[in-house]
Amino acid sequence: MTIKNYINGELRDALSNKIINVVNPSIGKVYGTLPDSDSQDVMLAIEAAIEALPAWKILSFEQRFDLLLKLANGIESRMNEFVEAESMDNGKPEWLAAQSDIPRAISNLKFFASAQMNFPSESHHTPNQGLNYTLRQPIGVVGCISPWNLPLYLFTWKIAPALAAGNTVVAKPSEITPYTAYLLSTVCIEIGFPKGVLNIVHGLGAKVGQAIVEDKRVKAIAFTGGTVTGRAINIECAKQFKKVSLELGGKNPNIIFDDCDFEDMMATTVRSSFTNQGQICLCGSRIFIQKTIYTQFKEEFITRINQLTIGDPKTNVNIGAVVSEDHMHKILGYIELAKEEGGTILTGGKRYIPEGECRDGFFIEPTVIEGLGHLCRLNQEEIFGPVVTLIPFDTEENAIEMANSTPYGLACTIWTENVKKAHRVAQSIDSGIVWVNTWMVRDLRTPFGGMKESGIGREGGFEAMRFFTETKNVFIKY
Ligand code: NDP
Repeated sequence: MTIKNYINGELRDALSNKIINVVNPSIGKVYGTLPDSDSQDVMLAIEAAIEALPAWKILSFEQRFDLLLKLANGIESRMNEFVEAESMDNGKPEWLAAQSDIPRAISNLKFFASAQMNFPSESHHTPNQGLNYTLRQPIGVVGCISPWNLPLYLFTWKIAPALAAGNTVVAKPSEITPYTAYLLSTVCIEIGFPKGVLNIVHGLGAKVGQAIVEDKRVKAIAFTGGTVTGRAINIECAKQFKKVSLELGGKNPNIIFDDCDFEDMMATTVRSSFTNQGQICLCGSRIFIQKTIYTQFKEEFITRINQLTIGDPKTNVNIGAVVSEDHMHKILGYIELAKEEGGTILTGGKRYIPEGECRDGFFIEPTVIEGLGHLCRLNQEEIFGPVVTLIPFDTEENAIEMANSTPYGLACTIWTENVKKAHRVAQSIDSGIVWVNTWMVRDLRTPFGGMKESGIGREGGFEAMRFFTETKNVFIKY
């Protein structure tokens, strides 16, 4: 498989002709190459996006709607190909890509195709003087940079609103999982998507990502990824007064009160801990359990975790491979740290070696740890793998204090049947998203993003449309 850049409507190699290998993490072997692009390739993409901008931004709502819908339908018509590619690239089970990643990528495109038609602007009458109205105009060329955990899902989460709002785009998918973004560029060609409106440049973040962020002609950056990278991007954008939206890491609390619906909570907590091998920014990695049900929770949770199946993502397993060898070692390093910090591994804790074709793949047993204080490194730093900690608490105040004790503030889950308590805790938690008695139910109209070091700004719905437009007030004197 030879992955290529998509620039000005054409598939191209890097100008340098350099390539990078792409690995299938479930078998631990190289399956293809991608262009090792650099600033010269980014330059070409930006020039194409600048040229395409005037025609794209004056398209009618209907024309833009039709083109975005064609992209969505183009993915849908090649569903199996996209599902297999996502699973091979990322290590996630195929059923998960089929149920979640690819349908959600399609929804992103459909949703924002429609959102741009329904995006209102405001007017304000100033008594006896005149009328203000608000224009929300395209920003220009924007940069979209996305990570490897939900590759096409998060790639389209950025490019769909950016394009819908009338911008042209230079996008960089993660170098670790470039396949489905490449397939999307082939859909663009198939459906005759206008040249230069969407450009996809593959390669390393430090070269391609950085060149997109540093170029002054790129007027805004929408980034999803780690907090360290986000901070570097934010510094560069600040120098240029460039608009920036950052969706970063998390260390999400899952707070379980003794008055919850135990069965519902248990089934959901298994999912919120280990779906996608724990590599979802919204996974609950710190599980706070009220002391009165701690032992009952622990015994039942471990029993269920021990029933999870791991292995070949093509089969019906619960848990596939983590994304790369480096990431596997990072996660295993954190498990070692847990032991050094005095934690007890209740289950898991090791690399898992399946039989057959996947024996060299990067699998980790779902791991549950107890006995660690809430301020130790393991409970403060993002691991982003199949590792959760159990922490008992006495009171509501005690749970809130521990839950809020990290530098992150992305998502939180609260389990209680007491509606007053649910509202109280939801208000007191420092996070951009709170789920009560459920997890990861996403309505695309709602604001999405994090507090503290989990990011700046919100995307989703009209929040994304606002981010990807420049706001102008016009005042007309009576
Ligand atoms: P990284 O921050 O390593 O990378 C994200 C993207 O940024 C990649 O495409 C990467 O390129 C690129 N990049 C790296 N360096 C630079 C740079 N200097 N300038 C511009 N771009 C750069 O994150 P991961 O890919 O490891 O993704 C995992 C992280 O994403 C986790 O922390 C997770 O919490 C977070 N995340 C946050 C979400 C949210 O909504 N808040 C959702 C999903 C994930 P490359 O890797 O190809 O070199």
